[in-house]
Amino acid sequence: QAGAQSVRVMLTAERITPRLIAVASGKGGVGKSTLSTNLAIAMARAGRSVGLVDADIYGPSQPRLMGVEGVKPEAEGKMMIPVMGAGGVPFLSMGQLVNPGQAIAWRGPMAGNALSQLVDAKWDNVRDIVVDMPPGTGDIQLSMIQKHKPIGAVIISTPQDLALIDAMRAISFFDTAKVPIIGLVENMAGYLCPNCGEMSDPFGSGGAEAAAKELGIPFLGRIPLDIKIRVESDAGTPPAMGEGPISDAYGAIAQMVAT
Ligand code: ADP
Repeated sequence: QAGAQSVRVMLTAERITPRLIAVASGKGGVGKSTLSTNLAIAMARAGRSVGLVDADIYGPSQPRLMGVEGVKPEAEGKMMIPVMGAGGVPFLSMGQLVNPGQAIAWRGPMAGNALSQLVDAKWDNVRDIVVDMPPGTGDIQLSMIQKHKPIGAVIISTPQDLALIDAMRAISFFDTAKVPIIGLVENMAGYLCPNCGEMSDPFGSGGAEAAAKELGIPFLGRIPLDIKIRVESDAGTPPAMGEGPISDAYGAIAQMVAT
C-alpha cells in the first residue's frame, strides 16, 4: 500500500520538460517574431501541444502579436504561469518582465536568468516551446544553447544576399553548438500588387532556397510579402489563425517542423 502511494506521488511530481525550438535570424526586421507567432499557432492547429516564449530582449513584440499586451503573468511560488495567447497558445515574454515601452538593458547573467524564468515556467503539459530568439549571436543565444539545449533551430531570412550572409552566421553559430538546424524559411518573398495584380520581388527571390541547398539544410518554405500579414499580426489575430494561402503556408512550415 505504502509502495503504491509513493509511486503515485512520484508520478504526479514528474514534470514533462518541454522541448525548445529556437526561431532565429542573423539580423532584425526579417520577420522572425511574426514567423514565431504564426508557427506556434499553426502547430497548435495541427494538434501539437505547443507554447511560445518571446526571448527577444531587444524588442519583445510578441505580447502584441499574441493579443495579450499589458497582461502580466501570475506566479505559483517562484514559477510563472504562462498567459493564454492568440490561437490558444500559452505564452510568456521578456516584455512581461518589464513595463511596456521600457527598454531592457540587462547584462548577460540577468538576461540569462530572465530566459530561465520564462523557459522553466509552469508549462504543464506543453511538449514543444517555440522560442523567438533575439537577432544575432549574443548572451541570450549562448545561455539558450548552454543551459536550455534546444532540440533544433529554424532560421529565417529575407531573400537578398546581405540578409542571407547574416543568416549563415546564425546557422554556423547553432552548428558549432551542435544544435541541429531544422531548416531555413524565406520571408517577404514575392509581392502581389493589390492594385495591378503584378507579382514582383522587392528583395529578390529564391535566394534562401538556393542557400539551403548549398548548405545541405532543409528548405522549409517561403512566405510572401503581404500587407495582411502585418495588419493581422499587429491586431493580435495572426494570419495562421485564419484560412487561405498564407495560413496554409504557415501550416506547411509547421508540418516540416514536426518531429
Ligand atoms: P523581426 O522579429 O525579425 O525583427 P518582425 O517579425 O517584427 O521582424 O517583422 C518586422 C515587420 O515586418 C513587422 O511590422 C511585421 O508585421 C512585418 N512583416 C514580417 N513578415 C512579413 C510579411 N511576410 N509580409 C508583410 N509584412 C511582414
